[in-house]
Amino acid sequence: MKDSPVAHTNNSPAPLTFRKTAACPASSTLVSYRTEKLSREIAALVRKHLVGCEFCNAELRLLAHHKPRAGRIPQTPEIPMNLRILAESILGK
Ligand SMILES: [Zn+2]
Repeated sequence: MKDSPVAHTNNSPAPLTFRKTAACPASSTLVSYRTEKLSREIAALVRKHLVGCEFCNAELRLLAHHKPRAGRIPQTPEIPMNLRILAESILGK
């Protein structure tokens, strides 16, 4: 039987990785938090999380610079059919 002198090989200290964890709120939640659209309870939870999470703090700061335009999806305008036929007939000449 081998008696390993190192008892805690797997007990590495939790590295402070700069990334989202399972405990992190979603970006949309952070946006809602920023715009104060969350309920008091959820907002309190997010605030509590932000105290200990560098990543979410950074993300929140990032979101502050990046204002989302609510419900506005840029769309490429479609050329009306008659205009298109006209253009094609001119270009085809
Ligand atoms: Zn977080």
